[in-house]
Amino acid sequence: MLLPLLVAATLSVAATTTDLRDLVAAVGGEGVRVESLTDPRQDPHAREIHPRQLALLRSADLLVRVGLDHEPWLGRALRAVAPPAHDLDCSRAVALLGTETPRLRADSRPHVHAFGNTHYWLDPENARPLTAHIQEILGRLVPAERAAFEANRARFLARLDAGLTRWKERLRPHAGSRVVVVHDTWPYFARRFELVITAAVEEKPGVPPSPAYLGLLMERMRATGVRVVVAEPGAPAALLRRIAGGTGARVVTLAPSVGSDPEATDYLALFDVNVDRLAAALASR
Ligand SMILES: [Zn+2]
Repeated sequence: MLLPLLVAATLSVAATTTDLRDLVAAVGGEGVRVESLTDPRQDPHAREIHPRQLALLRSADLLVRVGLDHEPWLGRALRAVAPPAHDLDCSRAVALLGTETPRLRADSRPHVHAFGNTHYWLDPENARPLTAHIQEILGRLVPAERAAFEANRARFLARLDAGLTRWKERLRPHAGSRVVVVHDTWPYFARRFELVITAAVEEKPGVPPSPAYLGLLMERMRATGVRVVVAEPGAPAALLRRIAGGTGARVVTLAPSVGSDPEATDYLALFDVNVDRLAAALASR
């Protein structure tokens, strides 16, 4: 028996991160149901997937992922469930940085960013191509909602543009400022806002620094007058205290993802929070 179709079936989307979840929600609006597979308070490269999220992945029509080697847990999860019928690899939507970084051998040490830096959502301009790709695939899967997706994206981009004006204005006085980062999370953000990252505390992405490297880093920071270290929630506090104590630099903790910090409540708030904190740290030098 055919049942009358009262409500259009809602497209179910599993995004691997809260950042992509927000971008899908911005375009999809009421027309999609989207959730993040991971908790943004965990290390982005060492996340565990929980049974509830495995169920979400199993029931999803579309998977939206950061791609490259950002989600080392995803292969295992996809082997455990039937993969969603559609898969959007967002790394293909943007111009990647750090692709020239030499690959570390997979069998030697934990390694990340082997194919390019994966933290590309931290350039707010990248939300433009990312939402374009999201709009394209959502429109293909739910043709009846195409106009709504287009209108949703236009509304989101208008808010993004207002944000970009605000954020650039706030950081303009600090253009050219040199900072040291803990993990190599910020090249896209730094390029957009004209900051110069002179070094990372992690000798290689995902690898803690050796004492020799740390000594050299602090010496260089003192010599070149780097006064701000950008950390993320969960960065080793003792290490940060040591660097701050040894160099006089100020440590500022930024939010690398939506929800990694209580104030970073959505994709646009993520930049409000980070720009604010960074401007304050750079101003108090
Ligand atoms: Zn990373």
